[in-house]
Amino acid sequence: MIALKSPTEVSVLRENGQTLSRILTALCREVQPGRPTLYFDEMAESLIREAGGIPSFKGYHGYPATINASINEEVVHGIPSSERTLSEGDVFSIDIGLMRDGMHVDMATTLPVGDVDDVARRLLDVGERSLWEGIEQVKIGNRLSDVSYAIGSYVEEAGFYVVKEYVGHGIGKALHEDPQIPNYGPPGHGVRLRPGMALAIEPMIKLDALPTQVLDDRWTVVTGSGGLSVHFEHTIVLTEDGAIVVTLGGDEKT
Ligand code: MG
Repeated sequence: MIALKSPTEVSVLRENGQTLSRILTALCREVQPGRPTLYFDEMAESLIREAGGIPSFKGYHGYPATINASINEEVVHGIPSSERTLSEGDVFSIDIGLMRDGMHVDMATTLPVGDVDDVARRLLDVGERSLWEGIEQVKIGNRLSDVSYAIGSYVEEAGFYVVKEYVGHGIGKALHEDPQIPNYGPPGHGVRLRPGMALAIEPMIKLDALPTQVLDDRWTVVTGSGGLSVHFEHTIVLTEDGAIVVTLGGDEKT
C-alpha cells in the first residue's frame, strides 16, 4: 500500500532533504585519495546527529554503519572501513539516509577520486543523467513504470546496463515503502502517480550485463564482471504543483 504524505509530512520531507543534501555536499568535499571510507562514515553520523536526525541505515536489517561506501565494482552496501582507502582514479559512491521528525529521506551520489579515465567519466555522466530522466517522469497521471522506462532506455542507449536486482522505493515513515521502482522495463505500467507520493529514485548502472553478487560480508554488492558501477539517488515528493526534489541543493545554513 502506498502511503500518501500529508502537507505537514511533505514539509518535514523538504526540511530533512535540505539537511541531508547539505551533509552529503560536505562529505563530497572531503573526497580525496588516501582517505579511508570510515572517515566519511564518522563525519556523516556526527553531522546527522548534530542536525537532530538519526542515521536511517544504521541498524537497518543489522547494517552496521551510517553510509554505504562503495568503490569501483562495488554497487551498493559497501561497509565503511578504516582499512579501505580511496585511490586516485576510483569512483566512490556514498549512499546516505536521515530520519528526523518521523520521516526518512535517502540520497546517493558517485564521485570521481582525482582524475578518472574516460569510461568512468562517461559512466558517471550517464548515471547522473539517467536519474534526471527518471525524475522528469514524476508527473501527476504518469504511470510508475514511465519512470523505470525513462531510466532504463536512456542507460541502454548510452551503451551501459542498469542493475536489476536493486530498485528504488517509496519513502516516508519507513525507509523503504511501497512502491518498488525498478530502473528498467516498458512504460505505461504500474500505479498512476498521485500527489502525496514520496519516491526515492536510484539508478545503479554498470558496464556489464552480468548479475551482481554479494560478498562474504553479506552486504557489499559487486558487479558480475568486476567492472565499474555508479549510483545516483534523490528523494522526490509529488505535489499538486508538481514534483519537488527534496534532496536537491541543501542550503549551507540548514
Ligand atoms: Mg534508497
